[in-house]
Amino acid sequence: MALTPDQDAALTAAAEAARAYRRGDHERPVNPALSYEDVLATFREPTPGQGSGAEAVISELVGKVGTGLMACTSPRFHGWVNGASHPAAVAADWLVSAWGQVASFADIAPAASAAEEVAAGWLLDLLGLPAECGLGLATGATMANFTALASARTALLDRAGWDVEADGLFRAPEVNVVLGGEAHSSVYLTLRMLGFGARRVHVAEADDQGRMIPEALARVLSGLAGPTVVCLQAGNVNSGAFDPFAELVPIAHRHGAWVHVDGAFGLWAAAAPDTRPLTAGMAEADSWAADAHKWLQIPYDCGVVAVRDRGALQRAMGVSASYLPQGSRRNPADHAPELSRRARGVPVWAVLKTLGRDGVAEMVSRHCAIARRIAERLRPEPGLTVLNDVVLNQVVLACGAPEGPEADDLTKRTLAAVRADGICYPSAGNWRGRAVMRISVCSGPATLEDGNVTADAIVAAWRRIRGNA
Ligand SMILES: *Cc1c(COP(=O)(O)O)cnc(C)c1O
Repeated sequence: MALTPDQDAALTAAAEAARAYRRGDHERPVNPALSYEDVLATFREPTPGQGSGAEAVISELVGKVGTGLMACTSPRFHGWVNGASHPAAVAADWLVSAWGQVASFADIAPAASAAEEVAAGWLLDLLGLPAECGLGLATGATMANFTALASARTALLDRAGWDVEADGLFRAPEVNVVLGGEAHSSVYLTLRMLGFGARRVHVAEADDQGRMIPEALARVLSGLAGPTVVCLQAGNVNSGAFDPFAELVPIAHRHGAWVHVDGAFGLWAAAAPDTRPLTAGMAEADSWAADAHKWLQIPYDCGVVAVRDRGALQRAMGVSASYLPQGSRRNPADHAPELSRRARGVPVWAVLKTLGRDGVAEMVSRHCAIARRIAERLRPEPGLTVLNDVVLNQVVLACGAPEGPEADDLTKRTLAAVRADGICYPSAGNWRGRAVMRISVCSGPATLEDGNVTADAIVAAWRRIRGNA
């Protein structure tokens, strides 16, 4: 029997548990009721000697997980910048697992590779990026940044007469790396992985919103010679601010630099008419990274990399071996680091088909409107300060004045109280030397009313803390 009755029942039980869970997205407390230690204790047991039935394992899993899940799919989950797994993408992702495709090569996984190729074209279109780009799907923006910067390394060193694929980095011409003062920590991780080193970067300062200052970039570049890559940012992880691409990209290009844009969530601003102006000049860059598991609501994990010089992307990421298919078809594995990989293009295709251009634009604009609504409701409250210009979906909040250790303590205590109430879930953070609460609006179904509820929950927690302070 291909599928035993027990295995059949396990699939049905999983689908039923998933549906029951998602029906509760709006009601459940957002923070997990169980601590890590609680859940660990329920999982901990000696290595099972004998196996169990598949259906029994699934129902045991659902029982053990219990209330130990963070409600990332809640419309009032505002932690980090997390998407909420669109149900259509979840369903497509189930099928990806059930089909068991290894989406590396068009010949081996024709349907999965075709869905990815079409989705890749749609992504370039929606993000306003040049149609000639190579586009790959990686595990997230970290690996998308890695892939783009590896392509930059290939192209820049090639121009300098050095074959980095064959000869590595030892004795290669030095590649300068310029980052903004507010570059995301994951970019430093990619520099470590690429052999560029995290400490030898040149930093161009950012302004009070986290945007790279054009004069600072010009100053840094004027002191550098040789191959150079400049990393810009669309969507600062705290403030949501955008680097002024229209000024920065020409400065970098005049110096012959490769310009990369980390736009893990901010790249999606290009998909909505009202936020598109924030990305002006961005499409002139050479490579871009975005996440699909953030604003596009693809289940984890899925990142997007686009590289204008598709030859450099394929040189950096392509694989060849005698037992692997060759040919002119687009192979997913040539566009991202992994060889064996899941068919990420399938859930991307499903979400884009479900939402359409209009649905993506509506979602992005709605989330930005909710962020503005939250800020509007927080601002009048004495003792609360919104620190950022709310240009996108991010709100940075500090409690208490004047700034200093006492205010930092009030902010942290208010955040703990907000989380304990379970109505919404902001992140902790540090912004320009202050402890802050960061509210990201990135959950597909969130409404303006959710924004009201979130703001009111924060104000209520703050009043309790202030009353006790
Ligand atoms: C989230 C984020 C990243 C890292 O993305 P992952 O998907 O977690 O790998 C990089 N840059 C920015 C600006 C981000 O917001």
